[in-house]
Amino acid sequence: MSCIFCRIVNGEIPAEVIAREPDVVAFLDVQPLADGHVLVVPRAHAAAVEDLSPEAADALFRTVVRLAGPVREGLGAAGTTIGINNGEATGQTVPHVHVHIVPRWPDDGAGTVHTIFPRRTSRTLPDVGAAIRKAIG
Ligand code: AMP
Ligand code: ZN
Repeated sequence: MSCIFCRIVNGEIPAEVIAREPDVVAFLDVQPLADGHVLVVPRAHAAAVEDLSPEAADALFRTVVRLAGPVREGLGAAGTTIGINNGEATGQTVPHVHVHIVPRWPDDGAGTVHTIFPRRTSRTLPDVGAAIRKAIG
């Protein structure tokens, strides 16, 4: 098995594990963006969010919700930025869904989720809304 997060889930390679649950494992990012940078992953391999089963999605987000407080409190942080790089084009380097929970402090020098985008838009909101509703079916 070549997926590095599947190997962590299966205990084949070491990680600083925070939580082991029936459908989810959480461990520290080996190259933390801040102290307490946690990755939350489904046990079942899925490359992208769209590939998650409803059950895996439920379990994944429940664990994110459960850990957000302890990650913040454990590090004495003021908040957490929670995010997913979803697909290679977004910078996802490990193709096994993982939710980043990164503790934040008011003076930590990091930006918001908004700061990763240059706000290049060309279409109206109604046009975009119609396109997405059509894709939903
Ligand atoms: P992403 O760019 O969203 O795919 O993030 C992948 C994250 O996985 C990066 O922040 C890496 O530092 C982290 N990572 C890669 N390999 C390991 C590992 N063996 N243990 C813990 N974290 C890892
Ligand atoms: Zn995997």
